Amino acid sequence: MLSLWNEVSQKQNDIPHFHLLIDGCWKCLSSGEYQDVINPATGEVIARVPLANQQDVENAITAAYRFFQTLVFDPLERIEIMLRASDILKTSREEMAKTIVLESGKPISIALSEVDATIERLHLVLEEVRVLYGEYLPGEWVKDTRGKFAIVKRRPLGVVAAIAPFNYPLFIGAAKIIPALLAGNTVVVKPASDTPLSLILFVRILEKAGIPAGSIHVITGSGKEIGDTLVTHSLVRAISFTGSTAVGEHIARLAGMKRLHLELGGKAAALVFKDADIRTTAALLCKGAFRNSGQRCDAVSRVLVEEKVADTLLEALREESQHYFCGDPMDPKTPMGTVINEGAAKRLDALLEDAKNHGASFLAEKKRTGLFYPPHILEINTECRLAWEEIFGPILPVIRVKNEKEAIELANQSEYGLDSCVFTQDIDRAFRVAEKLHDGSITINSIPAHGVGHFPFGGNKRSGIGREGIKYSIDELTELHTIIVSLKEEK
Ligand code: NAP
Ligand code: MG
Repeated sequence: MLSLWNEVSQKQNDIPHFHLLIDGCWKCLSSGEYQDVINPATGEVIARVPLANQQDVENAITAAYRFFQTLVFDPLERIEIMLRASDILKTSREEMAKTIVLESGKPISIALSEVDATIERLHLVLEEVRVLYGEYLPGEWVKDTRGKFAIVKRRPLGVVAAIAPFNYPLFIGAAKIIPALLAGNTVVVKPASDTPLSLILFVRILEKAGIPAGSIHVITGSGKEIGDTLVTHSLVRAISFTGSTAVGEHIARLAGMKRLHLELGGKAAALVFKDADIRTTAALLCKGAFRNSGQRCDAVSRVLVEEKVADTLLEALREESQHYFCGDPMDPKTPMGTVINEGAAKRLDALLEDAKNHGASFLAEKKRTGLFYPPHILEINTECRLAWEEIFGPILPVIRVKNEKEAIELANQSEYGLDSCVFTQDIDRAFRVAEKLHDGSITINSIPAHGVGHFPFGGNKRSGIGREGIKYSIDELTELHTIIVSLKEEK
């Protein structure tokens, strides 16, 4: 068994049983029940994690609140812990990447980049948190504040509930935990049930780096069963959630007066115009649609191509797609692994079936083997579900449009508003179109890629509330605290 695994799990019937971390204790679990973690590539049970119940959630939140109130977690100490955590993560790079592969079925090359991105994020947040100063505001400029001044500080909120999805199981969870802790909050984190292991190991790394017991707690178990307790608890001040729009909207309905940071579904359109560099565009679009088997909120999820270049683009896409094929996820040369589970694969099957029934023509069509889902490219019309629904799988639908106006209209008709991208060599067109699109980020001549979060990202419409990103996540997880001073006139 891998070495970090040994520190947070125990073998029973030859299967590692992981622990939760509540109030500094790795074994406290009231229910005694576990759920399986399955390797999507082999179908094997690789580990089991605790099925936390409401009482466990309650215990974690109360302990996190108690710790927050003690206010003893010094900023310099936080920075040093994160630096040590980054060193430990570097030495555990291979083990962490293998864990991600085992639980998610993604190829090792992508898992290694995920670990590297987490290490980089740790460092970049450290730079930002040091400039968390606030403002000094003189009152002289307005009649009723004359003789006063204000100091506007940023301070932590308190207990943050961090809920992570399966697709980047380490990075997305860590990108919530790191700024939350550095800004002085305490955290209760819930990983996705399909992929809980890498985030548990990350919390273990924080603990080894010296994070005080009580500042972070990790609970595993069904979101359906324990989610409501987590998001409605009166001691939780903020919810940082990344996941589906359905669950995000459910949380928004229940949460009441809490800070909400919701990163939800996406339906990125790629608008390709007749003056685009078609060969480069096709290569980028395949990467955008098929990397991580399309299981990315920022995946290219529909191509809107000007009629005049549609045939050329389709042919170029067909050729480029040959570089994407499924293979052993542990092999460094494998470009694509599996999709996450049978439910996800069946949803993709149904989307393709629906497209067939609506007369779609397929350019690349191969059968899936288990959860190994090969890339699909197809030309569709707007009657198809694929034109509007989030795909989250390796399927690239292409729609022909007459002109710029139609492309913009179709792009903006989506209920999502996370990302889009524009391919053209005409600088006027590029900016004109980018101004008109409704998404949180518009990328010109490349595909959406949130990367380590140097640029802010987040969605409009049903794609969410708030912005992720190195500085931006800190803003989301702190509140403004204004101290106003009234100066007496000299006698
Ligand atoms: P999901 O099914 O919504 O699950 C996300 C997390 O929410 C999991 O930890 C899940 O736990 C938990 N959860 C489920 N029901 C809950 C409830 N009632 N209350 C509280 N938490 C609950 O999403 P996913 O399938 O893991 O991830 C795919 C989705 O994430 C896609 O829609 C994708 O677009 C979105 N995503 C968005 C971004 C972004 O930045 N905008 C980035 C990545 C992914 P269980 O696993 O136990 O159900
Ligand atoms: Mg799920």
